Amino acid sequence: MKIVDITTERLSVSLAKPFKTALRTVTEAENVVVYVTCDDGTVGIGGAPPTHVITGDSLESIDYAIMQVIRPAILGLAIEQLEKIESMMDRVLIHNTSAKAAVDIALWDCLGKRTNMPLYQLLGGYTNKLETDFTVSVNKTDEMIADARSLIGKGFDTLKIKVGSSTMEEDIDRVSGIRKAVGKSVKLRIDVNQGWSVKEAVAAIKRMEALGLDIELVEQPVPAWDLEGMKQVADRVRTPIMADESVFSPRDATRLLAMRGCDMINIKLMKAGGIAKAEKINTLAEVYGVECMVGCMIESKISVTAACHFAASKKNITRCDFDAPMMFASEPVSGGVRFKGNQIFLPDDPGLGIQNIFINERN
Ligand SMILES: [Mg+2]
Repeated sequence: MKIVDITTERLSVSLAKPFKTALRTVTEAENVVVYVTCDDGTVGIGGAPPTHVITGDSLESIDYAIMQVIRPAILGLAIEQLEKIESMMDRVLIHNTSAKAAVDIALWDCLGKRTNMPLYQLLGGYTNKLETDFTVSVNKTDEMIADARSLIGKGFDTLKIKVGSSTMEEDIDRVSGIRKAVGKSVKLRIDVNQGWSVKEAVAAIKRMEALGLDIELVEQPVPAWDLEGMKQVADRVRTPIMADESVFSPRDATRLLAMRGCDMINIKLMKAGGIAKAEKINTLAEVYGVECMVGCMIESKISVTAACHFAASKKNITRCDFDAPMMFASEPVSGGVRFKGNQIFLPDDPGLGIQNIFINERN
């Protein structure tokens, strides 16, 4: 099955409520959608969001990378030779992980359709059902508590609380307020998005431990580049430390794993550059006895569905953070994963299982 065409479109979806972290505020989920057409008429669908503050990608750079760099390099190659296509993408283009992920997802969709298998089965088929947390954006404490309460009412039993955008004391107040409001049975994970120094992270986490806030894990407490700092934090606190922005590639993962710098890794297709590399990171982590979470950016249900297929396929992926599509004011994509409360059901159609996309803006 040879690749005969690759095209892109843009898809923009409004969020019901702005998404706020230590790094940014998002009101609109913007995406590049990619279609890979094969010579038998099969069309694979992929997509990627521009997450400037994390991956450095923009809508324009993703589109350019796909259409002007990747497209000419892989046209004519057979999707059965996925490894060859992946290595070609890496040869003609460094970085640009979101563009590579978008194409990689579309290729896996083609492969699933070619083999008549849903992607999660093609990748390993560990399970067909996932549970996700839901993120509480950084806001005033009262608003965060109200958001947390309403999420519990909707069936979520794990909340991810965004901190790191103000003082450490305010962050601790927010987390204690939420713990008090939701009770002991709810799991709370914290995402600092690089917002603390090593000293602040150690002090804040120790304080939360002393207050008995029972935090399941703390994600990316220190800047992405500071692997030694991450290790210092992980060594000094009891709470598990999860790397997110520090781990893009399998090579990043190897470095951090070899130095025992984190207790868990959050894999995202947009950082890794697609499913093939995400698999490598998960395998490396598993070898080191480190469990993985799979998360997403503020991205459409197309690429979130791909990430869900990947997460469902592997035993070592024990946590999921796939709330983005549940933040949308409306859903322009039909098919793919189905959300019910905190549960996610994988489709059994071949490939991703995406049916239709209502595109609101053509480029
Ligand atoms: Mg994170």
